Amino acid sequence: MPAPVSSVICSTYDEAEEAVSRAVDLLGGISSFVQPTMTVLIKPNLLAGAAPERAVTTHPAVISAVARLLTEYGCRVVIGDSPGAGTRYTVSSLRKAYERSGFPPLCAIPGVTLNEDISHTTVASPNGHLVKRFLIISPAVSADAIISLSKPKTHLLTTYTGAVKNLFGIIPGHEKSLFHSRFPDADDFSEMLLDLHGAVIPVLHLMDAVIGMEGNGPLSGNPRQIGLILASRDPHALDLVACRTIGIPPEIVPTLMAARSRGYINSDPEIRGDDPSSLKVLPFRLPDTARPAGLRMKITRKALARLQRSARFLAPYPEVVESRCIGCGACVRICPAEAATLRNRRAEIDLGRCIRCYCCHESCEEKAIQIKEGLFSRLLFGRRQ
Ligand code: SF4
Ligand code: SF4
Repeated sequence: MPAPVSSVICSTYDEAEEAVSRAVDLLGGISSFVQPTMTVLIKPNLLAGAAPERAVTTHPAVISAVARLLTEYGCRVVIGDSPGAGTRYTVSSLRKAYERSGFPPLCAIPGVTLNEDISHTTVASPNGHLVKRFLIISPAVSADAIISLSKPKTHLLTTYTGAVKNLFGIIPGHEKSLFHSRFPDADDFSEMLLDLHGAVIPVLHLMDAVIGMEGNGPLSGNPRQIGLILASRDPHALDLVACRTIGIPPEIVPTLMAARSRGYINSDPEIRGDDPSSLKVLPFRLPDTARPAGLRMKITRKALARLQRSARFLAPYPEVVESRCIGCGACVRICPAEAATLRNRRAEIDLGRCIRCYCCHESCEEKAIQIKEGLFSRLLFGRRQ
């Protein structure tokens, strides 16, 4: 039986403090998760330094609400994450990401600091199916407890990112690229994410679902109002409720399918508080790489994935929009297959080497990488571009 999920309507970030407090109370209160003397790592989604209104990162108002709850209870709080999107894991890039995402005022809360420790530690995941050891950022290892603050967004590789995918940020810097390289397929990548949850286990997962992201997330999609704060001990139950709320069918989300096949989701979670369906959120626009459920020609997502694995060049592929490229090199730095290069200060992609992980799209602040339909998509689903 999955753990319950609390759900509290929160129309604007001005209401975040009250909504977070109620969401935690519905699960038994903050004392159910931490003790007053603990050092707690708050792990937001800090994919990249981006203004809060872009809905790329967890909103500072939600982080502030959780930090206040913890410090008023007597905890010390460290806020930390390792940004993705081709960002180096250095003190200066962390400071830049904090600044751009509106995090520095959080340090005005007594007992709260922004992490600047860029060391890392190896942690075992003894029951991992694909990975049994992970490099993890040190504050996630030294903290007495972790609270994950995710954001519901669409994702070019995994279709959806929320509570489960949020933990990928505790892997330092470019080490993330190695996992994209080892697990280019979304199903394998999702199994790896579940293994990561065996190495580091947050005591609470809270989701900033006030505003999410639809379209070609997780960096370049469009913000969409939802109006909720969600919380649970169980990241899979939380993602299931979030996906249903924003109209993403769970069967096209590989992390949820992996959790189901491992027996982590065997029934519907109990929802405490406000009914998310009362918000009547229209379905989120899916990323260009996703396949709708229930489909033409009865080709399942799994079968399509198999076909694409054996003939990668038929899958959706990244293409550089030369007029937008400023030659910053972020896509080159993040590309795990060394398929992206710079020539004459413009990015180029060698599709023969490309493993279709879409990290370059995720890293490009200029929206200079677009996703083009592969041959299978055009034949089976029709042209969408
Ligand atoms: S496509 Fe151009 S602008 Fe975008 S990340 Fe690559 S080099 Fe930078
Ligand atoms: S060029 Fe291909 S392999 Fe490299 S980051 Fe982009 S999608 Fe991934």
